[in-house]
Amino acid sequence: MTHPSTTSFTLPLASFDHQPRTRLVFGVNSVERVGELARGVGAKNVLLVTDPGLVAVGHAGRVHRILESANLRVTIFDKVRENPTTRCVDECVTLAKASGIDTIVGLGGGSSMDTGKGCNFILTNGGRMQDYWGVGKAAKPMLPMIAIPTTAGTGSECQSSALIADETTHQKMACLDPKAAACIAVLDPILTVSQPQAVTAHTGIDAIAHAVETAVTKKRNPLSLMYSHEAFKLLVTSFPKVMSQPGDIEARGRMLLGASLAGLAIENSMLGAAHSAANPLTAHFDVVHGEAVGILLPHVVRFNGQDPAACQAYAELASAPEIACVSDGVNAALEALIARLDSLLNLGKIARSLADCRVERSTISTLAEEAAKQWTANFNPRPITARDFAALYEAAFESRGDRDGLKGEG
Ligand SMILES: [Zn+2]
Repeated sequence: MTHPSTTSFTLPLASFDHQPRTRLVFGVNSVERVGELARGVGAKNVLLVTDPGLVAVGHAGRVHRILESANLRVTIFDKVRENPTTRCVDECVTLAKASGIDTIVGLGGGSSMDTGKGCNFILTNGGRMQDYWGVGKAAKPMLPMIAIPTTAGTGSECQSSALIADETTHQKMACLDPKAAACIAVLDPILTVSQPQAVTAHTGIDAIAHAVETAVTKKRNPLSLMYSHEAFKLLVTSFPKVMSQPGDIEARGRMLLGASLAGLAIENSMLGAAHSAANPLTAHFDVVHGEAVGILLPHVVRFNGQDPAACQAYAELASAPEIACVSDGVNAALEALIARLDSLLNLGKIARSLADCRVERSTISTLAEEAAKQWTANFNPRPITARDFAALYEAAFESRGDRDGLKGEG
């Protein structure tokens, strides 16, 4: 990189239109308030949307009891699957219609939130999920939804989009509408302790990637940067703690808050090329989202860092948790940021090469074509073509870091 380093603080004064839609209720045991909160939005008859794992660990039963003790009728849909499809949403809608519900409570990771939101679209506006692919396609008001995340990752509890895959084509459809956003998100760190350590790693790295990508997108603005930088500060300092001490509630709380703030950053500035490149890997080779994003992220940062304005934005991000100082030069800060990301990925035991994820090298051109067509690619700070994506995938086949060494210790 040849561009000169600069010490001036650049805040792009890009326009934005921000309406806080989701009330955030944060705190240890805040889940105890969900009955009172549901009554506050007028609930009488609630649909609890969750997955079988959360039934097994008792979280679904606990929320069920809290809602019933507030004199609410509760119907439970506990068949949420990872990367939910239109069929999963249709099953949920059938149950919701039969029960005459007036409020939705989504309990779980991004998949529970997405299924709950997807159900809300069809229940209130009719038709099928494909009708809402895009932005603002729902004409009628939707039911109030309360989101209770049990992972610190997607930040879906703070977003107005539902990500639903077409059952037959496997195409992931992003259905965005302000009306689909949860009216309340209950952020209780206690609920995130029960997740397996690999889930903590994958979702935590995803949240970190959200903070990094939102901090440099074309749509970044003073408000989104506030969320990106604060999220990054909370996440990078707490991730090592939740990996070494999974029961540390304080660190779990910081991760949960960081993931939600990163979700708010996405809502206000979208995502970039690491997410564009990750989706085809999940679609073709079932690579877990957080792992796919994690493998690509350092390569994308290096690619984008060749753009002076993006390099400056990365340097400012790295300065938020004092990984680097902008005044020492933006190039040095960029390298420090990449080194920290590498070390966090190793700590999370994330695969460091696509070869470790059984991705076939011969598919690179197909993957690259698909990545270039992803919606998120439009918001990447540097224009990015299928050829650029192919080069990123090639680079991601080279092993990085000392994951094998860490495996031996773990
Ligand atoms: Zn993500």
